Amino acid sequence: MTRGKLFVIAAPSGAGKTTLVRALMARVPSLKFSISYTTRKPRPNEQHGRDYFFVDHAEFERMVNAGEFLEHARVFDNYYGTSKPQVESMLREGENVLLEIDWQGAQQIRRAMPECQSIFILPPSREALEQRLRGRQTDNDEVIARRLRDSIADMSHWNEFDYVVVNDDFERATTDLETIIAGIGEALRRDRPELQTLIRRLLG
Ligand code: 5GP
Repeated sequence: MTRGKLFVIAAPSGAGKTTLVRALMARVPSLKFSISYTTRKPRPNEQHGRDYFFVDHAEFERMVNAGEFLEHARVFDNYYGTSKPQVESMLREGENVLLEIDWQGAQQIRRAMPECQSIFILPPSREALEQRLRGRQTDNDEVIARRLRDSIADMSHWNEFDYVVVNDDFERATTDLETIIAGIGEALRRDRPELQTLIRRLLG
């Protein structure tokens, strides 16, 4: 059986990644989502085994020491990891697998599995990013400024990824992701010249 392909998607917070990935999974049912492990507490709408496997620190550490993670990283105050047996068995069965992880995890995956294809999602402008980061009305300027700094730091890793998708128009961005998964996304490679202006504006 032909081994499946591994795709990695990362983005700064505020780029709209979660919604895009959800739309992509609905359009490409054959794509399998790797359910990560995390020490973060579940949010009200999240389910164990569907969104994440929620574990405590001791269990997470046991899994790290037992070599059960393909990659793992600390993101803000929590730990996240991708299960090696879960991903390996799906790939072996010929399934294409999607990892939605942060840039640190993407670096580790690239080292462990250089044949993977990685995608970075960018917001269309600094204004759109700020608006999305603003979230709840109650957040003060300091909180928003910190989120913005974190997002800019994350975005500085854009050029480590094979493909870059700009979440300007939601429909278009979903189609772009679909095109990359289908193996015909050459036009979305990170080295296209028209990205330069946007990158300067976002990082500047
Ligand atoms: P959230 O807590 O909002 O679900 O996710 C926070 C961040 O952790 C997001 O950037 C998400 O992509 C990342 N993340 C989720 N699962 C994993 C994982 O298994 N490994 C790594 N390295 N990052 C992850």
